[in-house]
Amino acid sequence: MTYSLLITFILIGLFIYFTRMRKCHFHYFRKALNQCQICENLLCKKCNNSFDSLNFCPTHANLYKQKKWIPIQKAVATSDCSDDAVKLYELKDNLWRKESIPSFLTTVYEINEEKDLIESHITLYCTEGDIKYFKI
Ligand SMILES: [Zn+2]
Ligand SMILES: [Zn+2]
Repeated sequence: MTYSLLITFILIGLFIYFTRMRKCHFHYFRKALNQCQICENLLCKKCNNSFDSLNFCPTHANLYKQKKWIPIQKAVATSDCSDDAVKLYELKDNLWRKESIPSFLTTVYEINEEKDLIESHITLYCTEGDIKYFKI
């Protein structure tokens, strides 16, 4: 009786762990460790492709290698103000979801000693052919 109860608890525990686990978009049973910076699909170790400390799914890894990427817009975010960074993210997200136009963001952290803040310098990259969509 106690033994079967224990088994039940273990199974419930495993079920909760599994349902809450961030899963790879391509492999339902694999844990996601990264996210594609273009389509934002979650990726397991096997599906993730890293270049220049960026992560891509297999499709977008090829796209990244084939195209010339242009830094098209920049924003600086701090803990006080991240409006510009949010706008940049929304632009990226909308163009991908509505028009399937690929782009990605990179973030570099810098310490502003004068203001005693950590700044995130965010850059939006698009392909040479898509520049027209990203100009505001
Ligand atoms: Zn992708
Ligand atoms: Zn996978």
